[in-house]
Amino acid sequence: MADYQLFIDGERCDAASGETFATHDPATGEKIADVAKAGREDAVRAIEAARRAFDEGPWPKMSGKERAAKVNRIAELIGEHADELAELEARDGGGTIRKASLADIPGGKGAFEWFAKMAETQPDEVTLEGSPFPASENTVRYEPMGVCTGIIPWNFPFIMASWKIAPAIAAGNTSVIKPATFTPLTALKLAELIEEADLPPGVVNILAGPGGTVGEELAGSPLVDKTAFTGSTEVGRRIMQLASATVKPVTLELGGKSANIVLDDADLDQAAAGVLWGTFMHGGQVCESGTRALVQRGIYDEFVSMLADRAGKIVLGNPLDFATDLGPLVHRSQVETVERYVALGRDEVGEPITGGAKPEGLPEGLDTECYFQPTIFADVDNSAKIAQEEIFGPVLSVIPFDTEDEAIAIANDSIYGLAGGVQSGDLDRAKAVAARMRTGTVWINDYHLIDPQRPFGGYKQSGIGRELGTFGYDAYRQVKHVHVNPETSGRDNHFHYAVLSDQI
Ligand code: NAP
Ligand code: MG
Repeated sequence: MADYQLFIDGERCDAASGETFATHDPATGEKIADVAKAGREDAVRAIEAARRAFDEGPWPKMSGKERAAKVNRIAELIGEHADELAELEARDGGGTIRKASLADIPGGKGAFEWFAKMAETQPDEVTLEGSPFPASENTVRYEPMGVCTGIIPWNFPFIMASWKIAPAIAAGNTSVIKPATFTPLTALKLAELIEEADLPPGVVNILAGPGGTVGEELAGSPLVDKTAFTGSTEVGRRIMQLASATVKPVTLELGGKSANIVLDDADLDQAAAGVLWGTFMHGGQVCESGTRALVQRGIYDEFVSMLADRAGKIVLGNPLDFATDLGPLVHRSQVETVERYVALGRDEVGEPITGGAKPEGLPEGLDTECYFQPTIFADVDNSAKIAQEEIFGPVLSVIPFDTEDEAIAIANDSIYGLAGGVQSGDLDRAKAVAARMRTGTVWINDYHLIDPQRPFGGYKQSGIGRELGTFGYDAYRQVKHVHVNPETSGRDNHFHYAVLSDQI
């Protein structure tokens, strides 16, 4: 039996093939657990269970209030297991225990609470006022979509699982989720908590397995009504292709290359900390990271040297130590990607002003191969590959600009449009700049603040649709218009039939 099993139709089980795969702690290279490795057969079984639970089970017929009670119970159980979940999250993905305890686990819990509130408070039916032609009652009903699948990445495994499951089930759908192969553990632990919350079987199904088989089934199956995906733009395109076979609605949260604009009236101390936080949190393995800092010429030299000094103070170490700022990247392969881009940056731009290599002097027992120093390239041209392509690692490109128009043109010169920042002492000026940025989120004098109440998603190739907020709830609801002609006999109210004929 695997240490972590699949969760299908209300029961934990091994994969049909009996196969398992090992998951590792990137900080030390140690194996953490053997995980049941789902294949296509398991994915089909999970989708069929979700289909039955939707078509025949009680879940979609329950009131919003009843569903909210169950969704809130999941949140409560997350709270009770917060420490265990945080440690598992930090070990499986290499993020710090600080981030896991302060952001990941409360963030996931908050998503369940928010969508429970949506189920309780958002109306299922709204009557339209003023529909005179002909005299009639018109209502809009909001209904669950059916079986909703979610495919999630390795950078925020617990939050991403929560963002996909919570809105789906709160709105009355059933759900099948696949975590990323690098980081399956907290999603599978969440399955245990959902089992304890005692939802009807098949309402939530969670299975770890390869994207190429399990993921493709979740996106392509004709039994599935909606797919939500977070990950790379490349795989996002593939998800759209698979979903198009049955014209399945998709929500896609994809890559980014967000610009953090530092205007010359900014408090430089606050802005420098903000730019470093915006870029290096979780080693830059964040889709909305502000990996391009656009800095106005008058403050440029001073600001760049502040960034270099302070980046050197970021402490790399054991992610389970609360004193550590940065742990390893998720996997050696991710470090190799970063090394490729840093070499490219050296060719395109020159020597980085700080970082540029694996760190030395890490505490005993840590796997140096998985770590990379915070790295900053200055005087980058926005056309450089390191400024255009998503690196998904701790690499910042600093780009000078003269005027606000120029800053906006540079910020928008990207295939992506996920997020961005404006750092300024003048809020009106900052808001005017924010209004011209073609991105789904802008943080003014801040960065990375995502909350279940606030919509999140991208413009351009950063994605389709929004998660969170009321938008993220409605993304899991169908809209039905019901027209009632109150005349149950007689023809007076049916004069429009004449559009076909006076003779019928
Ligand atoms: P990824 O390769 O796109 O993988 C994401 C998920 O898709 C994983 O669960 C993966 O499974 C699965 N997958 C891979 N190929 C698939 C296929 N052909 N069909 C269906 N599913 C498939 O991305 P990643 O390496 O996990 O994450 C890094 C990327 O995600 C970055 O580019 C980043 O920008 C983006 N990202 C975006 C956001 C956002 O909110 N916009 C958030 C996080 C990450 P396996 O793990 O088994 O390969
Ligand atoms: Mg792992």
